Amino acid sequence: STPVATFCALLTAARIGILIKGGDILESLGEITAVAFDKTGTITRGEFSIHAFHAVGDKVQMAHLLYWISSIESKSSHPMAAALVDYGHSKSIQPKPENVTEFRILPGEGVHGVIHGRHVYIGNKRALARASSCHTAPEETKTMVGAHPKGGASVGYVICDGELVGVFSLSDDCRTGAAEAIQELRTMGISSVVMLTGDSAEAAMHAQEQLHAGVLDEIHSELLPADKVRLVGALKAKAGPTMMVGDGINDAPALAMADVGVSMGISGSAAAMETSHATLMSSDILRIPEAVRLGRRVRRTIA
Ligand code: ADP
Ligand code: MG
Repeated sequence: STPVATFCALLTAARIGILIKGGDILESLGEITAVAFDKTGTITRGEFSIHAFHAVGDKVQMAHLLYWISSIESKSSHPMAAALVDYGHSKSIQPKPENVTEFRILPGEGVHGVIHGRHVYIGNKRALARASSCHTAPEETKTMVGAHPKGGASVGYVICDGELVGVFSLSDDCRTGAAEAIQELRTMGISSVVMLTGDSAEAAMHAQEQLHAGVLDEIHSELLPADKVRLVGALKAKAGPTMMVGDGINDAPALAMADVGVSMGISGSAAAMETSHATLMSSDILRIPEAVRLGRRVRRTIA
């Protein structure tokens, strides 16, 4: 398209809250035939509420457990981290992130930190697998985990020095407009709309149920960052030019792999913003189909 038309379209995009890193990206937006959405923080709000929290075994007191968790999670920007820190606050726990060393983010799994000499992992099933086999969850723990997740909650585990010491369940709701955005993309002729998540299959199904008519073609769960990259690659090969929308550090490589990677500017991670081609500066996910439409208009002005 002409430089002026492209410039005007970039300004229009900015006005509706989408920052696009260049005119060529705008044209790629108009060619999109498939869209992959991350779940947590993209389709969902990323505002978790904790349903249940249990200390496992009698080695660790609840107050200590919550103090470790909130101190370590204060160093994480994951949506689940904020919920856990808030939960600690609600129980009058003051986090002390300055006492945490060796903090590491384990994408698709959770976080790790050392606090007062103890190695603590907080995360999903993958984190649980770090508990040494001789101390695996007793039968009682398994029923506890199985019992409290209400309708599609995610289950989290706390492992201290190789032993399971805590279990919690938490859930998150879909963003307003998420179902409409998916329907809109279909109406526009996008042939494939899929969800890629690091979260559990149960949590992914729960999101699909909330989306009602916003039916997804495929749902892939329990993914590592590399799995998201592979699946975006597969979608490109199968369904053509692909857009990926995501917010997390775990989404960054997949955003780079997509023909157009779109990050979430307000709640998203810096890593996602850096590797993406465009950033949504609001929580209004309906701007996604709007951006594709804008890209199509720009392409028409070339012809
Ligand atoms: P998604 O792809 O849905 O955004 P992530 O890859 O960020 O999910 O996370 C995958 C899973 O790892 C989460 O569902 C959660 O169980 C666990 N996890 C990630 N970060 C944390 C954290 N800071 N605290 C606890 N659990 C975490
Ligand atoms: Mg996410």
